[in-house]
Amino acid sequence: MLRKRLVAGNWKMNLTPSEAKKFVSELKGALINKDAEVLVCVPDIDITAVSEAVSGSDIKVGAQNMYFEEKGAFTGETSPLMLKDAGVCYVVIGHSERRAYFHETDEIVNKKVLKAVEQGIVPIVCVGETLDQREQGITVDLVRLQTKIALKGLTEKQVAEIVVAYEPVWAIGTGKTATSEQAEEVCAAIRNVIGEVYGKETAEKTRILYGGSVNGKNAAELFAMENIDGGLVGGASLKLEFADIVNC
Ligand code: PEP
Repeated sequence: MLRKRLVAGNWKMNLTPSEAKKFVSELKGALINKDAEVLVCVPDIDITAVSEAVSGSDIKVGAQNMYFEEKGAFTGETSPLMLKDAGVCYVVIGHSERRAYFHETDEIVNKKVLKAVEQGIVPIVCVGETLDQREQGITVDLVRLQTKIALKGLTEKQVAEIVVAYEPVWAIGTGKTATSEQAEEVCAAIRNVIGEVYGKETAEKTRILYGGSVNGKNAAELFAMENIDGGLVGGASLKLEFADIVNC
């Protein structure tokens, strides 16, 4: 089964619209790999500027979060309809920073995943353990549970089209990358649990990314693993090094 590789940048809360525009024009010129899908998940305020700036290239634009309602009295939130209309085709859901700082539970993540899929936006569902949980030996159990809850209510066909990102919390923004074996072990466990619930054929289609201090030097080895279909890249996606990651 050939799964198309995906390299997704997560800019987090960085770059103003004018900085974003400038950076994307430079990035466009540096990308040479036509086999991988390239995505930048940008702050909501940058979406319009970036959608314009990527025109004429294969770079897609994603969001970093969305609300699970379509409209109404939810001050400060962004609706999937707004994201879609602005040119967004992917949305990161349940990033560990949102779980930690904005109290997103597995149940909220599930509501957002269901709404994104219903609205035709592909969710990149983040799962992963803290250092404490890894040391306690519960990584695989925890990630299996996070995955099961996040995807609850989706059909097999829908699960085949979403993306799951395994992001060990201890590796995000720390410069400590999981070894390719550690990353592969958990990505394989995610594929297994999807297989148990939605069937093996579905699981073979779902793309699973690794995220956590991916850079131009370690990307090739991580992406060569059987169950790793690309990466979710934070810090390095704000530099032209992102092109090296895609090109590898
Ligand atoms: C992320 O923000 O999802 C991430 C993986 O960050 P970093 O690459 O900086 O560790």
